[in-house]
Formats: sequence, C-alpha cells, structure tokens
Amino acid sequence: MQIGVLALQGAFYEHIKMLKALNVEAFEIRQKKDLDKPMDGIILPGGESTTMYKLLTDLDMFEVIKKEIQAGLPVFGTCAGLLLLAKKVNNHTSSYIQTMDIVAKKNAYGRQLGSFNTTGNFAGIDNMPFVFIRAPFIESVGKNVEVLSVIDNMIVAAKEDNQLATAFHPELTDDLRIHKYFIEMVRQYNKKAI
Ligand code: GLN
Repeated sequence: MQIGVLALQGAFYEHIKMLKALNVEAFEIRQKKDLDKPMDGIILPGGESTTMYKLLTDLDMFEVIKKEIQAGLPVFGTCAGLLLLAKKVNNHTSSYIQTMDIVAKKNAYGRQLGSFNTTGNFAGIDNMPFVFIRAPFIESVGKNVEVLSVIDNMIVAAKEDNQLATAFHPELTDDLRIHKYFIEMVRQYNKKAI
C-alpha cells in the first residue's frame, strides 16, 4: 500500500512518521508529477488552508486531486485538510476542494482558545488524545456523513464514504489508532475496487 501525503506546507512530515510506524509506505506530494505515482490513499495535512489551496492551484494540482477524490480515492484531511474538503466553509469566502458534504467553520474556537489538548471518543473508541491548533469545527453534516467525534457539542471528526476528516491533529500525538482507522478505510476501498 502506498499513501501520498500532500507536502506543500504544514504538518506533513508527522503524517509520514505515523504511516511508517504502521509499516505503511508513504511518499511526499510536492509537485504535479508526484500525482502520477501509484497511490492507494492521500492525506491532506494541517497547515493553512488558504495557502495550501493557493499552492494547489498555482502548481496545477487542484483539479487532479479533486477528480481522484470524486472517483473514490480514500482521503484523510486533518484541520486545514478538513477545510479543504468541506463543501462549504461558513465564515470564509473562497471555496476549496468541496468534495465532502460538511459545513465547517474556520478558526472556530477564537483566538484565545485556538489551541488546546483534550481527550475524547473517536468512532466509539474512548480516551483518544485530541490536539487542536487554531482548529475548525463542523457545523453541520449531510445525510450520508457519519459523525465520529463530538466535543462540547461540536462535531470534530466525520466520514463520508472514502473521505475522513478531523478538526484535530492525530499526527501530533503518539497514538496511531486514527491513522490505523484510515488505513483500514483504504483497505476496504481497495477490496471494493478489485
Ligand atoms: N486555521 C488553519 C486554517 O484555517 C487550520 C489550522 C491547522 O491546520 N492547524 O487553515
């Protein structure tokens, strides 16, 4: 299995470390030709969504990634990656990749509370460490979206078919379970594709 990690900006290296710890092969996507490599799944990391979107557009990678996701490529977006996937970002004018039926709010916790650590439930698993850094949250989800985590009445993780999104950063913890969950999604998808 090969997972491509978008490496234009932000916390991409940490995702690669998590994948290596799970014995999954990973490579950095830095330019359009990297998208030609065989890829079973893609990770859109945290960082700054507007900057990432601009780079994706400038490097002519945006449409290819969008089409692949629409065609079913498993994708995991963390934080800024969640914003890239959201169909709508309520307090922001640009639109991003927009493949996932969620409405998100950027920098949703305000300046003061922007970054914090807590623990919560993810897909029925308790005591998961959650690291939030100027995080968004999900304001509402479409009918095919499964809510995976809620903290203080706010949705912070969700899944829709081949798309997984978390408002927090599992790659900044030493807990591999959410990456494992994504790898399992990739396996399921590949089984279907055969
Ligand atoms: N606030 C960032 C954005 O709007 C996301 C923060 C993050 O990825 N840690 O894109």
